Amino acid sequence: EPLPMRDAAQPAPLLSFEFFPPRTEALEQQLWACIKRLAPLAPRFVSVTYGAGGTTHERTHATVARLARETELVPAAHLTCVGATREEVDAVARGYWEAGVRHIVALRGDPAPGTDYAPHPGGYAYASDLVAGLRRIADFEISVAAYPEMHPTARSPEDDLDSLKRKLDNGATRAITQYFFDTATYLRFLDRCLAAGITAPIVPGIMPVSNFAQAARFSAMCGTSVPAWLGHLFEGTEDAPEIRRIVASIVAAEQVRTLQANGVDEFHFYTLNRPELTHAIAHILGVRPRPGSVAAQAG
Ligand code: FAD
Repeated sequence: EPLPMRDAAQPAPLLSFEFFPPRTEALEQQLWACIKRLAPLAPRFVSVTYGAGGTTHERTHATVARLARETELVPAAHLTCVGATREEVDAVARGYWEAGVRHIVALRGDPAPGTDYAPHPGGYAYASDLVAGLRRIADFEISVAAYPEMHPTARSPEDDLDSLKRKLDNGATRAITQYFFDTATYLRFLDRCLAAGITAPIVPGIMPVSNFAQAARFSAMCGTSVPAWLGHLFEGTEDAPEIRRIVASIVAAEQVRTLQANGVDEFHFYTLNRPELTHAIAHILGVRPRPGSVAAQAG
């Protein structure tokens, strides 16, 4: 069966975009150019990641605060528990509230590579504890992470689902998934969430892949399986970036269209601070720039 195209009369899906905080002046220019390109698509919110172990605290804060100050976008700050006391994490959260940031993506975070996770003494042990802590600080909107293929260190899929439920029960209103390539896995996960009584939106995280080798390395670390067909599609494109990008957009477009045909109407894009693929896929989903948009004041 061919996938149906969205009818122009149907409402366009809701989008959110994820960025990472820039490390250099050149990357900063790239990020703000990307934000300027994507802002007219009127995302529901845009989020900025927090480097492993909280290492980008200042850069994350500066980026999120600038989004709040200089654009009409709704910024969301990622925040992790790892390597910090509760007081330190709470102070960061209060700083966000004072800067006008009302949305936090609450995460546990990962330990240093090659080590097992151990909660910081006096810190929040898991994301569910952080959600409860944030609730005590202010009336934040809180998003959390979900894993259609199970978190790599979870004891079982059931345990992992319990931990997602705890995060939502403690006050989060939405989960964003780790990216995945096998769409059926995500749809089965939605069924399992529903069966467990989870009614909050479980928004699929979409990673448009243009560098297959890099994506395969990263997927191995975060527990996303890479189907053989994906490798096969990118085979022989190593020295042909323009072919790779076309293949990448077809792969991602097919994924979002399959999700849309299955009733998914909200998508979170891991943009990697590059606008083109995300913009093209959003276009295929039926999203158009807001007429006369002044959303992008930045840059
Ligand atoms: P949790 O929900 O706390 O779960 C972690 C593990 O502990 C799971 O295996 C869970 O099953 C288990 N668990 C939970 N509660 C308990 C309990 N009470 N007892 C025993 N086990 C328990 N990382 C960053 O460093 N910065 C980011 O900006 C960032 N952004 C992300 C955005 C998204 C959308 C996603 C999906 C991930 C992101 N990550 C980020 C990665 C994330 O920090 C890691 O995947 C981390 O290992 C788990 O974080 P979590 O919030 O899912 O943890």
